[in-house]
Amino acid sequence: MKKFFTLLIAVLLFATSSAQAENFVVEISDIAATDFNTPIEKFYSTLPKAKGNYKSRLRPILIEGAMNIETEVLIRALKNPVTYSELNYLFVAGTYKDYPVVIVRTEIGMANAVASTTLAIKKFRPIAIINQGTAGGHNPALKICDIVIGERSFDHTAFRSAYSAAGAGIDLTNQENIGTYAYDETSGKFQAYTEYFADPTLLNVAKKVADENKNFNVVTGVIGTASSWIECVDYINFLHEKYGSSCEEMETNAVAQICQNAGIPFIGIRVLSNNVTNSREYTPESAKVVQNFVLLVAENYIRDLLKEVSE
Ligand code: SAH
Repeated sequence: MKKFFTLLIAVLLFATSSAQAENFVVEISDIAATDFNTPIEKFYSTLPKAKGNYKSRLRPILIEGAMNIETEVLIRALKNPVTYSELNYLFVAGTYKDYPVVIVRTEIGMANAVASTTLAIKKFRPIAIINQGTAGGHNPALKICDIVIGERSFDHTAFRSAYSAAGAGIDLTNQENIGTYAYDETSGKFQAYTEYFADPTLLNVAKKVADENKNFNVVTGVIGTASSWIECVDYINFLHEKYGSSCEEMETNAVAQICQNAGIPFIGIRVLSNNVTNSREYTPESAKVVQNFVLLVAENYIRDLLKEVSE
C-alpha cells in the first residue's frame, strides 16, 4: 500500500512538472507566433530550395528586412521564389515585375545586417540595395505608419564624449560624432564617414513614388542607427536637435557603410512603428506599410533599369 502511494505521488509529481514544462513551451511559442509571425516560417518551408549557384542575366535588386514581419509582404510578392541559406540567413530569389529581385531576412542588428548583406553581395551581385523596415521616431511631428526616406544615415553611438573626471556625473550630450570607416575610392583608403548619403537615383525614385501615392505619408530625412533602442525622450530630443535624426533603428547605416565599400547604390527606407516623443504605442503591423511602399519604389526603379537595358 505504502509503495502504491509513493508511486502515485511520483506519477502525480511527474505529470504536474511536465505539464508545467509544456505550458512554459506553449507560452514561448505563442509570443513568437505574434512577434515573429510563425506561420510565415511554414510558408518558407514550402518554397523550393535553390540548386547550385544563382544565375541571372540581369543583376538583381536586393531588398532587406530584419524580421519576418518586415520581409513577409516582399517575399509573398515574388514570382517563382527559391530559397538560399548561408550561415543561417534566409535569402529568397525570384522576380518582381519581370525583373530579378532577392529578399534577405538580415536578422536584427548591425552585425547581422552586415554579414547577410556581404554574403548577398558575393552570391547575387546586386545592382542596388534597399534596406527597409520599422523604426522609432525622433521627430515629434512624425506619427506611427509615417515613412522616412533616408536621405542620409549615421551611427548615433559612434561618438567620442568630452572628458569628465570621476564623480563628475554622466552627461553624454557633450559629444562629437566620429563616424564609421569605409573605403574611399579617390584616396584608395578607408576613412571615417560621419554620415552616408542615399544613392541619388534611388532617392529620386523614392521621392517620385511618394509624390504619386498620397495614400502613404512620406518625408525625406535622416536615419540614426545603433545597437540600442532609446526610450529616454530627452536624449532623443538631443539627437534630433544635434544631428537632425528623424528616426532610429538598428541596420541602415551599417549596410550603407558596406555599400560604400562595394560601390553599390543604396537607400534606407523606414516606417515608424513607435515614437516615444509623442506616444507609448508600438505597432509592428506598420512594417506592411513600408514593404508596400518599397515594392512601388522597386517597380519604378526596375522600369528605369529595363529602359536602360533595351536602349
Ligand atoms: N524584438 C522586438 C522588436 C524588434 S527589435 C519585438 O518584440 O518584436 C528592433 C528591430 O526593430 C530592429 O531591427 C530595428 O531596426 C527596429 N526598430 C524599431 N523601432 C526601433 C527603435 N525605437 N529603436 C531601435 N530599433 C528599432
